[in-house]
Amino acid sequence: MTTAIAATPTVCLLHADIHPMTSECWGATLDWYLAHDHLEDSEARAAYQAAVERKMLDQHVRQQAA
Ligand SMILES: [Zn+2]
Repeated sequence: MTTAIAATPTVCLLHADIHPMTSECWGATLDWYLAHDHLEDSEARAAYQAAVERKMLDQHVRQQAA
């Protein structure tokens, strides 16, 4: 049985969005994890999630202001 690698929407820090990731997206995500590799896995995941949410809010505010 073959399993197709579906383009699963993933939380993307680069674009502050949830979408199927490109290699550019994964690169930014990997860089973030490497920069935070002093954190426990679960802490890192939570911090990553928080970082994306902050960026999403940031962009949202900026769009409102524009
Ligand atoms: Zn992306």
